[in-house]
Amino acid sequence: MTVESLEDFRTRARSWLSDAEPPEVPLDLDERFAVLRRWQQTLFEAGWVGLAWSPEAGGGGLTHAHQLVFVEELVRARAPQPVGLIGLEVVGPSIDRYGTDWQRRELLPRMLSGEDIWCQGFSEPGAGSDLASLRTRAVADGDDYLVSGQKIWTSWAHEAQWCALLVRTDPSVRKQAGISYLLVDMTSPGITARPIRQMTGDREFCEVFFDEVRVPRRNLLGAENEGWAIATHTLGSERGAATLRRRVELDVALEDAIDELRGSRTPSDRVLAAIGRAHVAMRVLDAQTRQTTARLLADTGPTPLDSVDKLVLNHVEQTVFAEIAGLLGPLRAVPGSRPAGLRADRWAHEHLYSRAASIYGGSAQIQRTIVAQRLLGLPRG
Ligand SMILES: Cc1cc2nc3c(=O)[nH]c(=O)nc-3n(C[C@H](O)[C@H](O)[C@H](O)COP(=O)(O)OP(=O)(O)OC[C@H]3O[C@@H](n4cnc5c(N)ncnc54)[C@H](O)[C@@H]3O)c2cc1C
Repeated sequence: MTVESLEDFRTRARSWLSDAEPPEVPLDLDERFAVLRRWQQTLFEAGWVGLAWSPEAGGGGLTHAHQLVFVEELVRARAPQPVGLIGLEVVGPSIDRYGTDWQRRELLPRMLSGEDIWCQGFSEPGAGSDLASLRTRAVADGDDYLVSGQKIWTSWAHEAQWCALLVRTDPSVRKQAGISYLLVDMTSPGITARPIRQMTGDREFCEVFFDEVRVPRRNLLGAENEGWAIATHTLGSERGAATLRRRVELDVALEDAIDELRGSRTPSDRVLAAIGRAHVAMRVLDAQTRQTTARLLADTGPTPLDSVDKLVLNHVEQTVFAEIAGLLGPLRAVPGSRPAGLRADRWAHEHLYSRAASIYGGSAQIQRTIVAQRLLGLPRG
């Protein structure tokens, strides 16, 4: 079967998006979640979700290049992202790659449609940067595992139907060697998710408690005690796909901020300098993400270069939103120009959320150490 050319695909995506009437994103988190879930369903029914995933998994059987084109068109149309990004960008690619036929067939189509929301249960109170020290335990019991322990900072756990959970199945070996990767039904008895408030005001992530939760063995992803390599794949997917999406989002945000400023008044030198700094930061990100795109299209898998991407992205994201928020944040709103919903609060929200960029998915300090050790070959300190 011939694959649609990228040019034709872009034209088709643009035309669909111009008729689609994307929703306004509400400020209230619960309403926002519901609206974006419906939006995911709409995108899925029209065939725009999981474009590069296999058809057995409910995907479009196209290439990563098509996926990138669609993300770009979606963002340029000022349409929101679907709500289930942790499934789509982070966990799903690992299930598609390492999952059994049953796992791929049963779990992935509902992940794509947004019927099932996924969360990523990796971090624990004593195991964030040092993830391999995680202590949540899974003990074999007949055809099941019994899982007990605690996770933290688990985004969307209170809304999720499924969790990609890292557990310790062998405490007697080197810490990376005793970890397994379980796919856990969040409606199982014994799970409690308690939301935590972020500085944006949203209760988007949770602490999650597991008390002798029964998980069938067929929900083990890959082999027992070999979860660490799959976790590395999951973290790599998070860095690659999110970097490319975020680049377009930042570009569009800066364009919008410049438009907002253009309509307001004759800019001062301070304003011009701030926009100049943000623009230069964006061009650095463009240059960096050309390599990211090449790696994604070549399907190289995780590499220490992902850490360079993440550091550049963190820096640019924080620079761009700090500059914009300084000019157009709530205290400097241009009278009469404020849109509705989350967009009314957009610059303050983006600025506050950008502070988390150097923490989630592995902190900036840890990425710098990875660059020094694994890319440059320096010895461990
Ligand atoms: C918005 C947001 C969403 C998140 N969502 C999820 C999620 O869905 N699922 C999930 O599992 N986790 C999630 N996380 C957690 C995130 O992955 C962790 O916060 C991160 O890995 C850091 O771990 P920690 O918070 O335990 O900090 P710690 O590891 O305790 O680190 C604290 C500080 O010490 C520094 N540090 C630690 N060790 C070293 C070292 N060896 N060398 C130099 N500096 C060091 C760190 O860089 C950091 O500045 C989320 C976090 C945020 C902010």
